Amino acid sequence: MPLTYNILFTIIIFLYGIVVGSFLNVLIYRIPKHENIATKRSHCMECGYQLKWYDLIPLFSYLFLRGRCRKCGARISVQYPVIEAVNGILWVLTFLKYGLSIETLLYCLLFSALLALSVIDFRTYEIPVGFNIFILVLGVVRVATDYRNWLQYLIGLVSVSLFLFAIFAISKGRGIGGGDVKLMAVTGLLLGWKLNLLGFVIGCILGSVIHIIRMRVSKEGRTLAMGPYLSLGVAISVFFGDFIVNWYMSFFTA
Ligand SMILES: [Zn+2]
Repeated sequence: MPLTYNILFTIIIFLYGIVVGSFLNVLIYRIPKHENIATKRSHCMECGYQLKWYDLIPLFSYLFLRGRCRKCGARISVQYPVIEAVNGILWVLTFLKYGLSIETLLYCLLFSALLALSVIDFRTYEIPVGFNIFILVLGVVRVATDYRNWLQYLIGLVSVSLFLFAIFAISKGRGIGGGDVKLMAVTGLLLGWKLNLLGFVIGCILGSVIHIIRMRVSKEGRTLAMGPYLSLGVAISVFFGDFIVNWYMSFFTA
């Protein structure tokens, strides 16, 4: 593809990414409160000012207003532009790695779901089941569009999740959350068993290391939301998995 097209696509995908990112902010705030995600107008949390369309332009409105409400000047959470920017960047990175393909589409949507469910899980220790259903649908599309490799995905669906379900059943839900079990099942269906297993291992390593540090530094409790770490592991696996697997295999084939 010519360079100019690549640059053009990158910009368009970034813009779509931040628009979807701003929708993720709505999900992050409203799902835990069981508020309607479609009908309620966005408003200032302090003065109730209803945001106009020009206050709702992802990333740019926040920068233009310097993070304050247009009417009362109350600070707007920095989470809004951060989520928008992160989603935009993730979409661009996915496009740069997988090009114009069905994989790019599926992985972009996967990352958006992981981003939102991670923030919600971090705050509430729960992964809303809607996110897992959404990723399940992505997985079904993946199998349908790559049906020659159906077995890879089917093994992915059960390999990590059955192991986690055993822990879940034995510990009666204290060892791991049911949402995490479902998450690793549906990401397995979407990624296939190799990348999913790798993502799970990376997520567990990151989770234990970072959580031990957080328990020491900020006197964090023992309760650990695994969703963010598993999501991070899956994302790293999608971007670097082929590289890591090849590197690992090179020890056995040399
Ligand atoms: Zn206000």
